[in-house]
Amino acid sequence: MTQQTSPASKTEETGISPSLNLTNAPVPVVTGWERRWVDIRVKFTFLRTAMQCYRSPLKALATIRKLLQFKQAMNGRKEIRRCIKVEGKYYFSMYIPGYPSALFNQYIRTELNYISPHKQPVNRLQVLQLAVTNRCPLKCEHCFEWDNLNREETFSTEQLVQLVKKFSREGCAQFHLTGGEPMVKLARLTEIISQPGLKHEYYILSSGLNITEENALRLKKAGATGVIISLDHFDPVLHNLFRGSAHAYTHAVNAICSARKAGLVTALSLCATRSFITKANLWSYAKLARQLGVCFVQVLEPKAVGHYQDQPVLLTAAETDLLERFYLDINFDRACRDYPVFLYHGYHQRRLGCMSGGKRILYIDSAGHIDACPFCQTKSYEAAAIISGRLQIKDIQIGGCPAYK
Ligand code: SF4
Repeated sequence: MTQQTSPASKTEETGISPSLNLTNAPVPVVTGWERRWVDIRVKFTFLRTAMQCYRSPLKALATIRKLLQFKQAMNGRKEIRRCIKVEGKYYFSMYIPGYPSALFNQYIRTELNYISPHKQPVNRLQVLQLAVTNRCPLKCEHCFEWDNLNREETFSTEQLVQLVKKFSREGCAQFHLTGGEPMVKLARLTEIISQPGLKHEYYILSSGLNITEENALRLKKAGATGVIISLDHFDPVLHNLFRGSAHAYTHAVNAICSARKAGLVTALSLCATRSFITKANLWSYAKLARQLGVCFVQVLEPKAVGHYQDQPVLLTAAETDLLERFYLDINFDRACRDYPVFLYHGYHQRRLGCMSGGKRILYIDSAGHIDACPFCQTKSYEAAAIISGRLQIKDIQIGGCPAYK
């Protein structure tokens, strides 16, 4: 006879905090009439914003039509018929500000401007990914910051605050604060996030280390919007091996539960390696994500940079094909409506090009280089030049993504 494992003993095995109730965590997903109502309101916001930008109903409608076509091409077959609701705001991705908000309106103004330029204020960037430290106790197999880790810190907290303020002045919807492991610098994080007068969304990209219930609350009170936690396998042993830490899985799972309790938007980030990509593994991962009640899951492809330099990690066409089919199934199959929303950047990158590359998104790494993105380490400029005033943000020209034209 098979012996049943009680939830309590499972908790002891995994080291997951007993105070964090894993099993009662539905994904805060919005479907049905509420999703349709949100859709109507969002489209009305599009229309009102486009009218302010173009002062012509015909031009406004034509530009909105193009924007919606672009969104659908990015998503796949059509609009994803579910979104996420956290503390009264609706979220469609962790790269789009929550709705309703002034940040969302500015985001839309900026997207309209990409399609048909106008004279209203727009963001220079939609997201700045900013490494706030190079310190990290982990040894992840795929780490793209590998060559920069655990050296003398590049920037002080004051300098990072200056950088954030300068990008804020040029317009930037979100700051994604990363590292290294940013949670080893909690005081620095809260100092940056809580700067008065800066109205942005802040996400923390972390392995989950140090995101206890208390620290998640500190982030929330400082003004953080959410956390993006790396979890690269549903199997604790294999995730720990991948991350080079015996406690990585426990930290990741506890971090999600603590962040959820604190009212933060939660996301998992999966580096889908060649050995991981099977249909069964992807669905097991998705089921764990649903059990954890996360809002979003982003699927990243391994790239031969950092710790993976010169290694044959790039996915084959068959592997990306499997990922694409999974991405479409989990987002569009009606039976999957209680799962988190999945993002797979490779899907739209192969069809529409990359949204990063210094256009919508820019990356400042932990050595202070300004890169097209974490994977395309172009080292195009030095962030120190922005701080000193030698480089103006408006003069940054990276010329798009070097990988996906
Ligand atoms: S990937 Fe992140 S958590 Fe892992 S070693 Fe690199 S900086 Fe640390």
